[in-house]
Amino acid sequence: MNGLAEAAGSFVLTRCVSRKSRTDFERWQAAALRRFLDRDLPRAPFYRKAPARLADLPVTDKALMMARFEDFNIHGLTATEAWAALARDGRAGALTVGASTGTSGNRGLFVISEAEKYRWLGTILAKAAPDLLWRGMRVAVILPQNTRLYDSARKSRLIKLAFFDLTAGPESWRGELEAFDPTVVIAPPKILRHFAAEDFRLQPMRVFSAAETLDPVDRPVIENFFRLPLGQIYMATEGLLAVTCRHGGLHLAEDSVFFEFEPAGEGLVTPLVTAFRRWTQIMARYRMNDLLRLSGQPCGCGSPLRCVDEIVGRMDDVFRLGSQTGPILVTPDVLRNAVLKADRRIDDFRLVQTGPDRIELSLPPSLADDAAAAGHQAVQALLEARKAVAAVTLIRAPLPLETGRKLRRVECRLEQAR
Ligand SMILES: [Zn+2]
Repeated sequence: MNGLAEAAGSFVLTRCVSRKSRTDFERWQAAALRRFLDRDLPRAPFYRKAPARLADLPVTDKALMMARFEDFNIHGLTATEAWAALARDGRAGALTVGASTGTSGNRGLFVISEAEKYRWLGTILAKAAPDLLWRGMRVAVILPQNTRLYDSARKSRLIKLAFFDLTAGPESWRGELEAFDPTVVIAPPKILRHFAAEDFRLQPMRVFSAAETLDPVDRPVIENFFRLPLGQIYMATEGLLAVTCRHGGLHLAEDSVFFEFEPAGEGLVTPLVTAFRRWTQIMARYRMNDLLRLSGQPCGCGSPLRCVDEIVGRMDDVFRLGSQTGPILVTPDVLRNAVLKADRRIDDFRLVQTGPDRIELSLPPSLADDAAAAGHQAVQALLEARKAVAAVTLIRAPLPLETGRKLRRVECRLEQAR
């Protein structure tokens, strides 16, 4: 297989699609989806007798996919074989296996072919930095090591990729990263913010946050440090889902994924994704855990791909509280905004639901007492306004950089929420 040809083909396709009108794009997408449903989907055992219409297919999710892993990929690879491959070098024959980060038992596995891997690379380059490619680019990717998608392109002439293991901690590779002098940096927002706090010597031309929800509180810190607008690459086990364009629009990857949306309250939606350009592991009507706010405006760049105003967080992290009128839900963005708007000096915090009626707000000791009290008061006022029954405890403690897990400033730790 010619990997570079796959990547280049995908690059060109992605660029072409981005120039279509919405009407032309929808026609193209409908044809691609139809081909996928007729030809690719039935090759996975789970879909042997599947109905022909997408809307008639069952909704799937991570629990189902993990329980019947071998029925969702066309090679019959079992979850046990995939985990074993992951523990070795991530290879299962000609296939690459990867897993999302997360607590054990809650990790999602994925399997892709070589062709898909190169196609994926071409797509991400076409979306993230098409103009840099021809000048040669050095891309630094700082993610947990189990993301093995990028291995393929390391040696190519136009692109140099370097990987830095998040779990090893930034101290262990700081010198190496600075010497690599990347033109593109892709990292979780907490690491980008750490670069700013520790004054790393980096002069990239593009910076993307990835792998964690970008909290608005981190954006100005990162943008001021790099003197660049911060882009986002929204990807998951489910694939590449959205990338920021040069105009700042966060475009859904509708050129490889068909999105359906389920309302989640507060103007937010959760996506059902059908990845119509993935043929090894079949994902159809797969319910994601993320909460999105869709944009009503088309982007100035002219791309027909719809935009997301914000990836708000995870459905798992919606607070579930009791009230006199019954159970209520409070979404992470509303909680986050209450804390941040309480006082401008608050630029980091943790807000955790620890019990059915218990919430803990942690603020660093370096924050002034009156600012901390304002934050505490704001959360209480928000919950009172919702008539929620909950006690909010204020904790003053340092908020350390955790590299072993995803940062979630607003987090629900109720077991029943899983
Ligand atoms: Zn755009």
